[in-house]
Amino acid sequence: MKNISLNTILEKDNLTKKDIVSLLSLKDPLDFKLLYQKADDVRKEYCGDEVHLRGIIEFSNYCDQHCLYCGLRLHNTGLERYRMTKEEIINAAHFIYESGIRTIVLQSGEDHKFDCKEIEEIITAIKKDLDVAITLSTGEREFYEYKRWKDAGADRYLLKHETANPKLYSVYHQGDELDERIEHIKYLKSIGFQVGSGNIIGLPQQTIKDVANDILLLKELDVDMCSISPFIPSQNTPYRNEENGDINLVLRTMAVARIVLRNSHIPATTALATLGSDGREKGLDVGANVIMPNFTPQPYKEKYLIYENKARTDSDPKIFVKQLHKLIESVGRKVGNTKGHSLKVKEEA
Ligand code: SAH
Repeated sequence: MKNISLNTILEKDNLTKKDIVSLLSLKDPLDFKLLYQKADDVRKEYCGDEVHLRGIIEFSNYCDQHCLYCGLRLHNTGLERYRMTKEEIINAAHFIYESGIRTIVLQSGEDHKFDCKEIEEIITAIKKDLDVAITLSTGEREFYEYKRWKDAGADRYLLKHETANPKLYSVYHQGDELDERIEHIKYLKSIGFQVGSGNIIGLPQQTIKDVANDILLLKELDVDMCSISPFIPSQNTPYRNEENGDINLVLRTMAVARIVLRNSHIPATTALATLGSDGREKGLDVGANVIMPNFTPQPYKEKYLIYENKARTDSDPKIFVKQLHKLIESVGRKVGNTKGHSLKVKEEA
């Protein structure tokens, strides 16, 4: 693209869909540089230099869903399943706190055996013991369950829209509807959750226009956080022979999302680090301000196989957190020491 037209787009206050498609379609590494620089400037202005760490506990890999891309899908009989006990989950939360991290993310497949009350009790116990924020990432549940968990003290909910293309959404999710997913995201927001959403890039049949629509949907939903990650084919799924998502397209999408969303939190995801050993640094350079180290204890950690070869981290999460501190400082940033709430709501005193 001619630099004049690229600069004109980058100087605009509001990007149109056409602008977004042009940015996502850039091919020249020199153009990437201009785009990434702009995203980094926006990140600095709206989010500052802090990188927030969120400790994640993947507490169950049972799942009732059939998502064609995901290794946790119900029909994957090749996966050994586990559920952590309440005590194991609470212990893992303490471990995260002792590592200096003030957000606990509780993630699982859609596992209804963990009923409303049990998750409520886990939230209550963690909140009683520890001064932390809790993010839930347990898929689509009943609205009354979301409300009970919010009332028990959960702060945030992460529910990715996965793709903004309604036809592809129904293909990937075996007939489920995007509109329903969006209703859930809107409901979560309406009852006071800080809401995270996001998409997967590089799924079969997806186009650049679909990715542009992902960004516009995230803007419309006014998300507090968005996770943009590459597709990674997973064994024992119908998409096992597909290709990885394009890392450069993921980086461009993160950069454009940063420019469009301004102050939403954006993680440098584990999936990005899986595609390249410097994935996290690259993510931090193009607008990311969050990293989510994995605190799932052994022997469960190896079994949460959304996809294989998840970026190998040091088996001791405390050592990994130290490495992350170094990494964050080496790119001129600071490790956040607060709960790192949404930048759209005031941080509690
Ligand atoms: N059950 C929860 C959490 C699911 S796992 C939920 O539905 O929200 C968390 C995320 O992993 C999903 O939202 C999806 O975006 C991502 N994911 C699943 N399979 C993937 C794959 N093969 N490549 C990249 N990301 C994947």
